[in-house]
Amino acid sequence: MLEGAGSTAGATLDPAQLMQDLAASDPRMAMLIQLMQAQRRQPADDIDAPNERDETILELRARLDAAEAQLARMTHIARQLRDAGRIASGRLGRLAAALGACGMCWGEDPGCRGCRGRGRPGMVRPDPEMRAQLFGAQSPVREASRQPH
Ligand SMILES: [Zn+2]
Repeated sequence: MLEGAGSTAGATLDPAQLMQDLAASDPRMAMLIQLMQAQRRQPADDIDAPNERDETILELRARLDAAEAQLARMTHIARQLRDAGRIASGRLGRLAAALGACGMCWGEDPGCRGCRGRGRPGMVRPDPEMRAQLFGAQSPVREASRQPH
């Protein structure tokens, strides 16, 4: 029934090799294969085998569930971090534009392709629209410079 699979033509369908490939491709498959092998390993003449097998299955299932739950938590955290990084990066870019700074390095990287390390705030004319968006009509920078020293 696998005759139609043209891409595997010539390849031997060794079940052991197939299992190994599956295990290598997915940690959940590896866990399932371990479970199946544990079932097979039980000696047939052992009277306690069914109970031991059931216990092993339950234990492996619990470990699989725990691993999947942990994977879901880690994936959730990774997504939150990625989103937070994107939001922070966008804010920094807008702030750099509002202050006339290099949005890539803020003048801290001599190797920066955008400013060659000269991109401190005030390097270029601040973007007035961005400035108004961030600071409102009255810029705190301008207000601060008006204060008597
Ligand atoms: Zn730069």
